[in-house]
Amino acid sequence: MLIYSQGMVRINKKSYPFFIITALYFVLGLVNIVFAYLALACMLVPFVMVARTGKKPWCSTYCPRADFLSLFRVFESSRKAPAWLNTDNTRKMVFQFFCINLFFIVMSTFMVSRGQMASIEYVRFLIAFTIPLELPQFWAGPALPDWAIHLAYRFYSIMFTSTILGVILASLYKPRTWCSVCPVNTLSSAMVRRIRQSAEES
Ligand code: SF4
Repeated sequence: MLIYSQGMVRINKKSYPFFIITALYFVLGLVNIVFAYLALACMLVPFVMVARTGKKPWCSTYCPRADFLSLFRVFESSRKAPAWLNTDNTRKMVFQFFCINLFFIVMSTFMVSRGQMASIEYVRFLIAFTIPLELPQFWAGPALPDWAIHLAYRFYSIMFTSTILGVILASLYKPRTWCSVCPVNTLSSAMVRRIRQSAEES
């Protein structure tokens, strides 16, 4: 059942505790960084769902991060998010930032695989800011090449960055303010528009 919409995301009422998946993701990264690859599911499944349904069921119902951010409703402030945050320009800027981030991830992983740079085995916020804490790695895990460890840390960093940004916005404004600029939402919305356009033309 649709209960309200925020930004460009329509949100369904449901009662599954998907927020546990978000918490588990960050905990598993402390166990072994190989679990950071689970981020690929969050990056790919939303688009598979759009392609199959022509809608955004991931955003409306299943997204673990959105469910996690909804927990911040306890701090919900009456302050409205500034208008500039919910504009196409801001969405475009955030989307471009994440594309640049992905570009750096691919290039640095390639360079590590070629032995042209050392793998970066720590978490970064917004690409540039190193978090001065080592992830403990309680389980030795499988023997991975340096580039795979580097890539896992980069996935963990991208999930960490977007979650922290979401938490800051959720604390300042409404719980799912992040959704209005989330790159997954931006790309999913573009896909939905394209699917509807093609259906109208055919
Ligand atoms: S917009 Fe992003 S954070 Fe919000 S529900 Fe969709 S994928 Fe999750």
